[in-house]
Amino acid sequence: MEKKIIAVVGATGLQGSGVVDSLYKDGTFQVRAITRNPEKYSGNADEVVKGDLTDLTSLTEAFKNANGVFVVTNFWEGADEVAQGKIAIQAAKLAGVNHFIWSTLPNVEEISGGAFEVPHFTGKAKVDSLIKDAGFENYTFVRPPFYFQNFTGQLRALPQQDGSTGWTLPIDPTKKVIHMADIHDLGKVVAGAFLNPEKVGKGSYLSLATELNSYNDILAAFRANGKEYSFTQVPGNVFSTFFEGAKEISEMMAYFETYSYMGPNSETQIQHAKEIATERFTSLNEWIQQNN
Ligand code: NAP
Repeated sequence: MEKKIIAVVGATGLQGSGVVDSLYKDGTFQVRAITRNPEKYSGNADEVVKGDLTDLTSLTEAFKNANGVFVVTNFWEGADEVAQGKIAIQAAKLAGVNHFIWSTLPNVEEISGGAFEVPHFTGKAKVDSLIKDAGFENYTFVRPPFYFQNFTGQLRALPQQDGSTGWTLPIDPTKKVIHMADIHDLGKVVAGAFLNPEKVGKGSYLSLATELNSYNDILAAFRANGKEYSFTQVPGNVFSTFFEGAKEISEMMAYFETYSYMGPNSETQIQHAKEIATERFTSLNEWIQQNN
């Protein structure tokens, strides 16, 4: 029997490559990587097809014959995530997709009653209701946490004025409010969801969170592995002036402090993701040992 096809948007990125790898390892499905530049693709997918979230015709073609699709949008590349979400829904409907999995985040505006503005969270969340109303046979929401990979990427430890290396951030380092994980593990959750549509295909929320940490926990994890980092807390309004996009980070951290990353009542969704995942998750300690 021919394998069902799962198409993975963002297959060249951090979230999507984890999805490709877990699906490929499981072997039940034929894995199709979607990218704007297929000629550059070097991952594990069985096939690679050109597709662009801003182009309905191209994405519909990329989703052709797919039973399931995983869709992630990239806010940091300037995406209008609601517009791209709409195109992805429309393309999936035109292609007759059975199971739509959307990478979303908590609706910060709704949770905080408008107190915090975090467009890269809320923009994704705004697409959720459109997916619920689209009439897919199966649809599932996954929520990625703060990536461990941020510690070597966008939010890496940097040289400080006092000669130390570390972080200057607008968050209380004693507060255990940051849900986090190795983002490659999102693939284990997504693969589990595609394998079990009868359990999670009627709009379940699956939140990946291997750990709930404070910045002091993060410092301790690096220290245990021989890396001494400093931490300085600064007020949000000061941090917001540091670089372009800093206000977004500042508001996000204020939201974390008040509601935690995944927001109120997220425990069930976190537990559900653990149960559905195809494999166990990597701890921060293991990730530091493997990646630093
Ligand atoms: P990434 O590693 O930077 O990769 C971005 C991916 O998006 C690439 O595979 C790229 O594909 C694809 N892409 C971008 N625009 C596209 C378009 N128009 N059409 C088709 N594909 C497009 O990104 P990521 O980390 O996997 O995902 C980014 C998202 O994660 C952001 O929206 C961010 O808000 C969210 N997020 C981040 C964190 C965190 O802690 N860092 C936590 C939760 C959520 P090609 O270039 O190959 O076409």
